[in-house]
Amino acid sequence: MKLQGARVAITGASSGIGEAAAVAFASQGAQVFVAARREGRLEALAQRCRDAGGAAHVTRLDVRDHQAVHRWASDIEALGGCDIAIANAGVMWLGPLLDMPVEEIEHQYAVNVHGLINTLQAFGQGMRRRGSGILMPVSSVLAVASVAHYGAYCGTKHAVRAMVACLRQELSGSGVDVVHVLPGATESEIHSHMATERVPAQTRQARRVPAAQVADAMVQAAKRPRAEVLCDSQGKFLYWATRISPPLVDALLPAAMKLRGRK
Ligand code: NDP
Repeated sequence: MKLQGARVAITGASSGIGEAAAVAFASQGAQVFVAARREGRLEALAQRCRDAGGAAHVTRLDVRDHQAVHRWASDIEALGGCDIAIANAGVMWLGPLLDMPVEEIEHQYAVNVHGLINTLQAFGQGMRRRGSGILMPVSSVLAVASVAHYGAYCGTKHAVRAMVACLRQELSGSGVDVVHVLPGATESEIHSHMATERVPAQTRQARRVPAAQVADAMVQAAKRPRAEVLCDSQGKFLYWATRISPPLVDALLPAAMKLRGRK
C-alpha cells in the first residue's frame, strides 16, 4: 500500500511500539490517528509526527470501551475511511499463574483480547464494505511460544493469534489484508509494570530491541502485506523453534532461562 496520505489508526500510541509506529508512519507522509488513555503524551507525539512530515489527530480512548472505539472508527470513516488499523494497545503482568491475582488476569484479557477485538471490528467492518485496507493486530512471539511466569499474558496472545488466523480466512478475497505483528522482547514501558518480586531475575533479563525496529517492520509490512511479521532475530528463533518442535522448546526453555540467570 502507498503510505503517503494513508489514514493510519493506532491504539496504544502513548508509548513504546505504538508511539514508534506513529512516528514511522508519519515519516512516510501518512495521517496518523493516535489513541490511548494518556492524552498529554499523545499531544506531544502528534507534534513529533507533524515534524516528521505527517498529519496527526489525537483521541483519548480506552480500548475496553466498545462504543468509544466504534465512535472513534466512525469519525475516521466520515473522513473517507481508515486504510490501516493497528490494534497495538496491550498490558503485561507476570507471575506464577497459580498465584496471580484474578484482577490482573482479567485486566490483561480485557485489554489484550477484548480491546483488540473492539478495534478490529470497529475498523474491519468499514474496510470490508469498501473492499480495501489493512488490519494490523499486534500480539507477540508469545502468541506461539509459552514461557514460565508469562502464563496469563501468553494466554491472551495465543488467543489473539487463533482469532487472527480465523479472521484472515473470513476476509480472504475481500480486499482487506490481515497482517499480524509478533514482536519479540522490545524496549518499552510494558516491562516497568513487572512485579519484580514475583518473577526470577532471568525472566527480566531478555535482550530487547528498540521499539523503532518493530515500527520499521510494520511500515515494511504495510507496503507489502504478508500474514505474519517477525521483528527481531531472538523472536524469530523462538517463533521457528516452537513451530518446528514445541516439545523440544518446552523441554529446553527452562534450562536456557537458568543458564541466562547464571551469566
Ligand atoms: P507500552 O507499555 O510501552 O505501551 C502500551 C500502550 O498500550 C500504551 O500506549 C498504553 O497507553 C496502551 N494501553 C494500555 N491499556 C490501554 C487501554 N485500556 N486502552 C487504551 N490503550 C491502552 O508497551 P509496548 O509498546 O511494549 O506494547 C505494545 C504492544 O506490543 C502490546 O500489545 C504488547 O503486548 C506487545 N508486545 C510488546 C513486547 C515488548 O517486549 N515490549 C513484546 C511483544 C509484544 P495508556 O496507558 O496511555 O492508555
